[in-house]
Amino acid sequence: MKTINIAIDGPSGAGKSSISKAVARELCFVHVDTGAMYRAIGLYALRHDYLERETIEAHIGEVEIELKFIGTSQHVMLCGEDVTDYIRTPEVSMAASKVSAVPAVREHLLGLQKRIASENNVIMDGRDIGAVILPDADLKIFLTASAEERASRRYLELREKPDCPSYEEILRDIEQRDYNDMHRDIAPLRQAEDAVLVDTTSMGFNEVVERITAMVREVMNG
Ligand code: C5P
Repeated sequence: MKTINIAIDGPSGAGKSSISKAVARELCFVHVDTGAMYRAIGLYALRHDYLERETIEAHIGEVEIELKFIGTSQHVMLCGEDVTDYIRTPEVSMAASKVSAVPAVREHLLGLQKRIASENNVIMDGRDIGAVILPDADLKIFLTASAEERASRRYLELREKPDCPSYEEILRDIEQRDYNDMHRDIAPLRQAEDAVLVDTTSMGFNEVVERITAMVREVMNG
């Protein structure tokens, strides 16, 4: 049976994951957050001091990544350990951004990502989904917002937490990761030619979810 595959790409902090999750719930699709897979490898690299290209390349074969779906939520397993709660720190974000520029790391995740999409109706979010992982996706969306808007959303999310970074720090981090993701040689972040641009700078969360859900329904109704 042919599965329906929706690709959502875009920069850090554009809301890809929370929006994809909400759309997936609405449509009973599986949501695959590929950033979480890179974050799990980043965590592995941090723990073992394998952040240099040569070391992560040499050890990538040891890194077992698996996704488990508990209800509608995705859990990332790293060598059998559920690391879902440890992968959202700024250190892991930077480590993920670094290891994701290594071709062997991307190669390591490619088969798993393609397999999940061939077995399930998916909304898969990341950076290279429309261009590399699912070039024949039924719908490709490039979801973005200005760097300032993304930083202020992130700041609002974090400000109640202890050790919350300042708005300026968050903005700098977002700009740095955008730069890394757009300027790497392999699978750089870019809008696929056949992707629909959705700029959420002045859109509310529900508005974006409704718009994308409607676009997917249109595709499903052929
Ligand atoms: O989306 P998220 O911020 O969780 O992704 C973490 C990092 O993983 C990103 O900075 C990006 O470098 C990398 N990534 C990637 N390709 C993907 C998903 C994420 O290179 N498909």
